[in-house]
Amino acid sequence: MAGRALIKLALFGTPVNHSASPRIHQAFAKQAALEVDYRAIDTPLGSLSKALGAFTDRGGQGCNITLPLKHEAMELAVHCSDHVALSEAANTLVRDAHGWHAHSTDGIGLVADLNSAGINPDGKKVAILGAGGATASALAALLDANPSEVGIYNRSERTAFELAYRHQHLGPVFGTGLNSLAGAGRFDLIINATSIGHQGQVPPINPGLFQPDAWCYDLNYGVAAVPLKNWCTGHKVQYRDGLGMLVEQAAASFRLWTGFEAETKSVLEALQRA
Ligand code: NAP
Repeated sequence: MAGRALIKLALFGTPVNHSASPRIHQAFAKQAALEVDYRAIDTPLGSLSKALGAFTDRGGQGCNITLPLKHEAMELAVHCSDHVALSEAANTLVRDAHGWHAHSTDGIGLVADLNSAGINPDGKKVAILGAGGATASALAALLDANPSEVGIYNRSERTAFELAYRHQHLGPVFGTGLNSLAGAGRFDLIINATSIGHQGQVPPINPGLFQPDAWCYDLNYGVAAVPLKNWCTGHKVQYRDGLGMLVEQAAASFRLWTGFEAETKSVLEALQRA
């Protein structure tokens, strides 16, 4: 009897050596009873084309893309989803006979994890700090959740402004400088999508920015999440890190590659215990 076909998947970006993605996708493969080879391949900026070519030659069918290659991935694709065309950032590629098709599952992952935590953006005033690839990828799905307002606050004001401008037909969104946050009133939800936690720092927030029942959602997880988590604990602000988003965006990618709907709760719990 022939064995099950091996599905060849990969993660491209740098650094990727400590990524949880291979473990997450092996857990999904086990649920689906599929044979999956998912490798993290360290790939510097400017070399995705070569790496993807080698992966295609050995039968690669799908891949995730992380920092700093999300824009490069979009440019290499033969087709981009609507979200990717708007955000100019792809985190998932799917191979067919014509070439690589670019998708973004970050926004699906963010909104799914907000839902799991009982955080509903509907009608809420939301601030998203940072305007990099993650904010770009997640913005359309966040606006789809019907917030009353999404303010993008970024160190480089122009990036925030341009990102908001491209998305303004999808909902009430504006972009401004991070230094405007202090005078912006109170929020129901503040999403940290900066990479400042990797520098051991906290974004410029203060307790007066949070409504009494507000949440702080941090896209970061692990060591990079520690500074903001400690700040929120110290100021009695409800906090959730981005590990659940990581699992949910992975499940959405796995669905694109295999059609299988993975169960995410047990996979997240296993990662939280590790
Ligand atoms: P990115 O494209 O490099 O963008 C980084 C963002 O952080 C930019 O807006 C940048 O502002 C801002 N920033 C960096 N250092 C700062 C500082 N010292 N002060 C103020 N702002 C600063 O990164 P990304 O892909 O958007 O990812 C952002 C974070 O989310 C990363 O830590 C990443 O690990 C995490 N992430 C998590 C998930 C998940 O599934 N949980 C998914 C994607 C990303 P400028 O534009 O002014 O440079």
